[in-house]
Amino acid sequence: MKVIQSISEWKTIRPTLQGRVSLIPTMGFLHEGHLSLVRRARKESDVVIVWIFVNPKQFGPKEDFDKYPRNRERDLELLRPERVDYVFAPTVEEVYPPGFQTTVAVEMLSKPLEGALRPGHFSGVATVVAKMLCLTQPHTAYFGQKDGQQCLVVSRMVQDLGILTEIVVCPTVRDADGLALSSRNVYLNPEERAVAPLIYQALEKVRAAVADGEREAEPLRGMMRAVLARSPLLSLQYASIADAKTLEECTRLNGPAMASIAVRLGQTRLIDNVMLLAPSQGAH
Ligand code: AMP
Repeated sequence: MKVIQSISEWKTIRPTLQGRVSLIPTMGFLHEGHLSLVRRARKESDVVIVWIFVNPKQFGPKEDFDKYPRNRERDLELLRPERVDYVFAPTVEEVYPPGFQTTVAVEMLSKPLEGALRPGHFSGVATVVAKMLCLTQPHTAYFGQKDGQQCLVVSRMVQDLGILTEIVVCPTVRDADGLALSSRNVYLNPEERAVAPLIYQALEKVRAAVADGEREAEPLRGMMRAVLARSPLLSLQYASIADAKTLEECTRLNGPAMASIAVRLGQTRLIDNVMLLAPSQGAH
């Protein structure tokens, strides 16, 4: 496993790579969710590249860029047994040198949900993902359904810009009590951690109601709000039932949809989602 920080060094390596190349973009502080993407990539490719970069452009001015958890040594220890070929971990100055002035914006899909609460977030994501896809030129890049809107934004960008990389979306990995794994879960104190599974319980309630035949979106949103209201520690930011392709809010479910939730729990912001009426996807 070779760790690379310098983009100029990387440029000498990329032309030597042979076979199917895969990329797993991450911000580090790795957990089993990230490792599930790495394992899938390892199975499906010859060269596996993990990108670790806490991207300042996707954090708002009042967000947690400075205190986002980082532990490079631990990340490398977790990746070694997974037989990763390259860990590409550039510095902020390498990725955004003086004079950098390009932004990639995916207009409509970036507006609702996370985009409404985190202005500029998805242009930060799209810009850095575009740069890493250009640098690594992977056949396949692996993303987690956990960040459902991000998957849509990145897929749209790749399609719109004619980038040849295939985007693969992998299922959300959860703790035994349903809480989606996230690097930010370390921020939770024990009391907050105890109520955090309500997020997945709210999503499961919606999934069960849809399986029982409910198709009206507003009652489904109401179910999520009711479950989340069980703890005063949870402050709801959105409980959405949106079209799975456009992210427009549904009035009635006529096809695949995404139920998604964002909450504040103390100082921590958590998001999660499940797909509805999308049997072939298998992502949960
Ligand atoms: P992050 O480091 O949080 O930017 O995540 C890097 C990649 O891992 C993104 O594609 C995430 O969607 C994915 N990911 C994060 N958490 C999970 C999880 N619990 N299950 C599956 N994928 C995840």
